This record gives sequence, C-alpha cells and structure tokens, in this order.
Amino acid sequence: MLLDGKVALVTGASRGIGRAIAIRLAAEGAKVAINFAGNTEKAEAVKAEIEAAGGEALLVQANVADAAAVEEMVAKVVEAFGGIDVLVNNAGITRDGLLVRMKDEDFDAVLDTNLKGVFYCTKVVSKLMMKKRSGRIVNMTSVVGVNGNAGQTNYAAAKAGVIGFTKTIARELASRGITANAVAPGFIQSKMTDILPDDVKKAYMDTIPLKRFGTAEDIAKCVAFLAGPDADYITGQIISVNGGMIG
Ligand code: NAP
Repeated sequence: MLLDGKVALVTGASRGIGRAIAIRLAAEGAKVAINFAGNTEKAEAVKAEIEAAGGEALLVQANVADAAAVEEMVAKVVEAFGGIDVLVNNAGITRDGLLVRMKDEDFDAVLDTNLKGVFYCTKVVSKLMMKKRSGRIVNMTSVVGVNGNAGQTNYAAAKAGVIGFTKTIARELASRGITANAVAPGFIQSKMTDILPDDVKKAYMDTIPLKRFGTAEDIAKCVAFLAGPDADYITGQIISVNGGMIG
C-alpha cells in the first residue's frame, strides 16, 4: 500500500472532506491521527470506521487556532505513533457575509482557523519532518481562494493566504526532503454547501463542465496521491479538483 508505515495527522477529520481523507489515508496503510474541534461523537465514528477496516487511528481534539493546543496535540501523536510523516491541514470554517456587513469577529474567526491554524500546525510538525529529512504537507485551499466569491472576503483572504503560505514553505523546506502542496476543491457536497439555496446550487452547476458536484472522496484521492511516493517530485503546487469549474 502507498502509505504503509507512515503516520498522518489530518486536521478537521471528524466529518466532510477531512473524514474522507482520514479514511483514505488509513486505507493506504497510514496510521491516522484524527483532529477535530468539538464533535467527539463524529470523530469517534471515523476512528471506528478505520479500525473496522483493519487500520489504526487516534483521536486528538484541539483547536488549531490555539498554538498551545496544537503543540499538545502534536506531542500526543508523536507519543502514540512515534512521529508524523504526513500533515493534512484541512480544518476550516465559514462565516459568510457581504463586506459592508462583515463583523470583525467573523473576519478574525475565519482567518484564525483557516490560515493561522495552518501556520501553527505546520510550524510544529515541520520541525519534526526537518529532523527526519522527509515529510509531506497538504493544505486545503479553495476555488474561492483562487477566484474570490461575493460574501466571502474573510474566507477568500484566508484561502488565498494558504496558497501563498504553501508556495513559500515549499521553497523553505525542499532542501530537507519535505514537499508542500495545496488542493483547491471546487463545489464539494458537504454540510458547508448543503445549506445553500437551490438557485445558488444551479448557478454553480452551470459553471462545472463535468456536470456534477464533487465528493469528499474526489478530494481524498488527490490528497492520498500527494501524500504518497508517486508525488515525490511535486512541490509548491496548487491542484484544483473542481470538475473543470470555470469562473
Ligand atoms: P466541514 O464538513 O464543515 O468540517 C469541518 C471540520 O473542521 C470538522 O472536522 C471540524 O471539527 C473541524 N474544525 C473546524 N474548526 C476547527 C478548529 N478550530 N480546530 C480544529 N478543527 C476544526 O468542512 P468541509 O466542507 O469538509 O471542508 C473541509 C476543508 O475543505 C475546509 O478547509 C474547507 O474550507 C475546504 N473546502 C471545502 C469546500 C466544500 O465545498 N465543502 C470547498 C473548498 C474548500 P468538529 O466536527 O469538531 O466541529
């Protein structure tokens, strides 16, 4: 299997895209640390699913926007699994609203989780990877970070920040055998998108040449590829997984 003997930490893995990534990496042979914010029941269900399939998983609750909590989380993973080979920075939130009505706290909350969280986790884990002179970092950005989207200044700023961050760490860490890439999902069916009105969903569908919304598994397959040996010579890239989405 692609990831036999590897350890992966997936943030925001209790549901949605992160859940699919955790299950996929475990199916490829990795021991998986499942991070989540507060949804213990859902996180336990992901762990149970991995174990039922013969894999190994660990629950690590932590707010990725809290530097001290991130340090503790990483220490727990290292204690249980001996290190971290693959870091997937997936945890993310939305607090949508037009710019003129955007509250400071909603802007800050999205930047704190979606961008600063990536900084905290990567800073701690990359130190371990540098010592080992190998590692894989995969960050979750979005089509919104590439193109922008009305009502999402906070989210677009954070996701565009993740792109700049990823390209920069790719340059800083390459000499230590560490690759860093980002995946930019388009419209993926999840709790985050289920709540959108039907006319908005139709407008999105009109922009997708492959004529279907993406699934969490579509994203997980790409992450597994970037985390595995077939992606050895790929770093600093932003891979769009969006059905060919235009505009
Ligand atoms: P989701 O279903 O809402 O799940 C979010 C996950 O992040 C949950 O596991 C949640 O944990 C965790 N989380 C939230 N805040 C956290 C924090 N402060 N610390 C640690 N964990 C935290 O989201 P999703 O739709 O799967 O999205 C996953 C990623 O893909 C996000 O980065 C999102 O921006 C990106 N993305 C999604 C889409 C889409 O169409 N869905 C498109 C492009 C990009 P709890 O369950 O404990 O709350």
